[in-house]
Amino acid sequence: MANSVEFINAVKHFGDVTAVDGVSFSIAGGETVALLGPSGCGKTTILRIIAGFERPDSGVVRIAGEDVTRLRPYQRNVGLLFQHYALFPHMTIAENVAYGLRYRGCPRNEIDDRVAQMLELVRLPDFGHRKPHQLSGGQQQRVALARALATRPGLVLLDEPLSALDAKLRQELRAELKQVLAAVDATTIVVTHDQEEAMSLGERVFVMKSGTIVQAGPPNEVYGQPRSRFVAEFMGRANWFRGRLEAHGNGLAAFVGANGMKLVVSTFDDAAGRGEVDLCVRPESIDLMPLQAAATSGERNRIPGQVLEVTPLGAMRQILVELQGGGQVLAVQPNRSGEAHGPGQPVIVGLPAEGCVVVPVAA
Ligand code: ATP
Repeated sequence: MANSVEFINAVKHFGDVTAVDGVSFSIAGGETVALLGPSGCGKTTILRIIAGFERPDSGVVRIAGEDVTRLRPYQRNVGLLFQHYALFPHMTIAENVAYGLRYRGCPRNEIDDRVAQMLELVRLPDFGHRKPHQLSGGQQQRVALARALATRPGLVLLDEPLSALDAKLRQELRAELKQVLAAVDATTIVVTHDQEEAMSLGERVFVMKSGTIVQAGPPNEVYGQPRSRFVAEFMGRANWFRGRLEAHGNGLAAFVGANGMKLVVSTFDDAAGRGEVDLCVRPESIDLMPLQAAATSGERNRIPGQVLEVTPLGAMRQILVELQGGGQVLAVQPNRSGEAHGPGQPVIVGLPAEGCVVVPVAA
């Protein structure tokens, strides 16, 4: 049974450091949430408080509606996969996976069935008799996941589950991890400092900064509608324009850039106000058009420019454009043949209003 989690107004200090600064959130049973943020922002501490390895100075943790704030870790039915997922080296893979079940005194035949099921789930059915050192890093990671899930926990906590692996293996295992988590009936909280990992695994992403959650929402919303420059920059690359908002209503506003550039832009947060603001435009939101195609349409948010540099990146290519009137933008497009832009080529830069997001100027 997937367990809900309520984390209510929790505070945790370590000496002078406020690791968790009055954080509250609720996670529904069965939901997968990614806690994302830079090193030291308090992600692991939140996970450890939920698991029971740390007690908050104040605040309440409820799992499946029950106040567990003062319960010990083993009283919480939580599956854990921590950053250093070390398997027990002297035990076989099957014994590693069986560990939690044996600890709970499950009957032998039930343990054998469950271990076989779990090794099947992580696609290592024939590895039960091996020792950890006979497995690759990625295989060991999958065993650690099987071990974390073997007791059918209603809540699974994963702290940087893929961080020990190289980039290619990380990507492969990320897809696999998602499938495995979908196959088990559990609520999952994943801690990561990698925004791609957070967006691919989490149904919701909580972005943290200095012990607080600064934005929470579905991945596309947090990426596409950041409420602050910190969130926008943490979630990916962006072009930035400083300017003023002149009039706004219905989620749209008239923006005038420092160089006089006028744009219709999106405002997702009323707090952005009318004064000086920053405009965030993701590289893939930018359209680049040949002069003649753009000349006939007379649409808004189009600025003439000139290609400065084209950099192939495999599946994508990035194009740096100098804007008429000053400033540059970086665009990213699929790297299809036959559509190449070259340095020196004049282009029209299209900035769709829904891709131009106003955020307050950072304090
Ligand atoms: P990382 O991504 O580097 O693991 P994090 O976001 O998980 O970082 P935490 O491990 O939660 O961050 O740490 C939050 C803050 O609390 C940091 O400043 C850290 O140094 C401090 N901290 C965490 N645990 C302890 C502890 N046991 N004693 C003292 N300070 C601690």
